[in-house]
Amino acid sequence: MKFTPEKYNISDEPMKPFIDPAEIETYLQNEKPDKSRVREIIAKSLAKNRLTLAETAALLNADEPDMIEEIKQGARELKQQIYGNRIVLFAPLYIGSKCSNNCSYCGFRVSNKETVRVTLGDQEIINEIEALEDNGQKRLILVYGEHKDYSPEYIAHTVKVAYSVKKGNGEIRRVNINAAPMEIEGFMVVKEAGIGTYQIFQETYHPEAYKMYHIGGKKSDYNYRLTSLDRAMEAGIDDVGIGALFGLYDWKYEIMALVRHTNHLEACYNVGPHTISFPRIKDANNLKLGDKYFVSDEDFARLIAILRLAVPYTGMILTAREPVALRNELLQFGVSQIDGGTKLELGSYASVEEIPQDLRREQFRINDSRSLGEIVEELLEQDMLPSFCTSCYRMGRTGEHFMEFSVPGFIKRFCTPNAILTLAEYLTDYAKPEIAEKGWAVIRKNMESLEPKMEEELKERLERIKSGERDLYF
Ligand code: SAM
Ligand code: SF4
Repeated sequence: MKFTPEKYNISDEPMKPFIDPAEIETYLQNEKPDKSRVREIIAKSLAKNRLTLAETAALLNADEPDMIEEIKQGARELKQQIYGNRIVLFAPLYIGSKCSNNCSYCGFRVSNKETVRVTLGDQEIINEIEALEDNGQKRLILVYGEHKDYSPEYIAHTVKVAYSVKKGNGEIRRVNINAAPMEIEGFMVVKEAGIGTYQIFQETYHPEAYKMYHIGGKKSDYNYRLTSLDRAMEAGIDDVGIGALFGLYDWKYEIMALVRHTNHLEACYNVGPHTISFPRIKDANNLKLGDKYFVSDEDFARLIAILRLAVPYTGMILTAREPVALRNELLQFGVSQIDGGTKLELGSYASVEEIPQDLRREQFRINDSRSLGEIVEELLEQDMLPSFCTSCYRMGRTGEHFMEFSVPGFIKRFCTPNAILTLAEYLTDYAKPEIAEKGWAVIRKNMESLEPKMEEELKERLERIKSGERDLYF
């Protein structure tokens, strides 16, 4: 199947703002679906089609408990049928907490004098990366506040430092970044450093609400942020991640806007976002936000299921902001990536001592503090296949989620074998014996589902891993 994105918004122009709150609200007001329409829409998604804004609005307005259950069931089915049981693991690494913006939900905001500001020096970055590699991490996202010290050149430098650190069999094979928007020239500089995904969240897509939370600083310019991924695309970065911070405005509006943003990128650049993130606001140092738009666990599960159906070929990221039990439940709706062993305190991966509470300097508090080893073990117990794969990015296969979704046999030819190879490396180098045993059992089971020729080839590569070779991929 060839990628021919539907041009839902042919009037969209590159580099021009594209969110019209009235358009979104009209869809939300007009689409009142009955059961048969909800079922039709779910079936359309299961038949591998992205949903329109009208269809997404219909799912969002399906409020009756049995319809909500059908939507969740649809998302579970889509995950089972298309993506199987792989989960990609990564870790965030905060590089600097200086910030000249004043986002009212964030511990790093400039007016928050209680936060201790830290920027890691090269040696500290190396220490952090070595500690992450010692745990078995292969994929990172580097995170920065918005500050004149964190120029594109500085960000590119830190990315290069991250790639350069090798300890034992450890190495970082993919560095994504979450950083303030740049000009096209700046994006070219960070692209050149070899970043994987450039990720940025609009926080809220509602311009009026946005204004209230972002008073002062560069980030107060809604449209500059909204068009940042257009500039990234113009600079040749075609691997981008979008997101909204849930709890700032009506969650139904934000889901519509995330789909609209996806449309825009597809219409203008022929490629949608690689990933969508949906963080919920968590407690932060000195945070005083109202709870008018608080998103309950039930609604959170519902919004993730709707998003899965609306953009079936986009990766979805769920972070350690959420507690363990909820994370495990939400994985079933087609989340494709999670972070593991996460620490947000700057410098804390390498630090042996707990940082005292009164000196807390992280951006917000997380709710899942399991180590990477514990997460791998739990995933294995649930028959999932933890993966550290970075193959598509390194083979130049962009649009991998779309390929997984649409190219027949892609998962069996590439994703499952690569997940197995990277898990085998992890089990050999970093896992406790009892976890390794569980892991090899999961590997054997997953190999049975592959073509005999692939199974043979994998067996041969697994032997090579056992005898010390690393970084084998398809
Ligand atoms: N300074 C860059 C920016 O604003 O784009 C980097 C982003 S920030 C370090 C990463 C993301 O964390 C933000 O985009 C926001 O969505 C999220 N965030 C901020 N405060 C949060 C909170 N209290 N709870 C959960 N997520 C939060
Ligand atoms: Fe700064 Fe980003 Fe926090 Fe806003 S969300 S205060 S820009 S670090």
